[in-house]
Amino acid sequence: MESKTNPVSTPAPILAIAPVITHGNPELPEVALTFDDGPSQFTIQVLAILQQFGVKATFFSIGQNIATYPAYLLQGIEGENAVENHTFTHPHLITLSYSAIYQELSETQNAIFHATGTRPTLFRPPYGEYNANVLATAGQLGLTILTWSASAEDWENPQPSASVIASRILSAAENGAIFLLHEGGGNRANTVAALPVIITGLQSRGLRLVTIPQMLANLDK
Ligand code: ZN
Repeated sequence: MESKTNPVSTPAPILAIAPVITHGNPELPEVALTFDDGPSQFTIQVLAILQQFGVKATFFSIGQNIATYPAYLLQGIEGENAVENHTFTHPHLITLSYSAIYQELSETQNAIFHATGTRPTLFRPPYGEYNANVLATAGQLGLTILTWSASAEDWENPQPSASVIASRILSAAENGAIFLLHEGGGNRANTVAALPVIITGLQSRGLRLVTIPQMLANLDK
């Protein structure tokens, strides 16, 4: 696992030394699709496409959405996808106190565990924003923090076309890439429509689609 050394004192020195994951093993032809901000009314469609192509992905779910769509979350787990922590209310964590950050993460751990029987091991901070308190909280809860190596920017409003979303992903395809997509937070019809093109495009480049836990297990191989 890559880790960096903090060279000088800065207002948030822990940032530079924490093992925040942005990428898998560059030596292995593996990539990971990740879907943030669900579960939502689009989750079922995303899961169906993954199943159709026989691939797995990682879902960073928002705690407050889980009560509305618990079945989708469970279905994702049963499909051997990874369902992980993306806070309870999707706040800008760096504006919150330590105790508020802890509440955001721990309530989501509990919500996912209650819905699925599986406790997350990964945490992705909303907007990719973190500070020393976020890192400390994640550590306290046994959560590995990760962001991404490439984004589809499919959260843009109006949403980019399916072909634009697919080309943003495929143009960033490389060993170990972690792709950020969204299944919640708005109309994700174009993301869903882009998925078959994304999956077949990645596979045609010889890349295997794996979950983030699978990718992290291969980090040092
Ligand atoms: Zn998000």
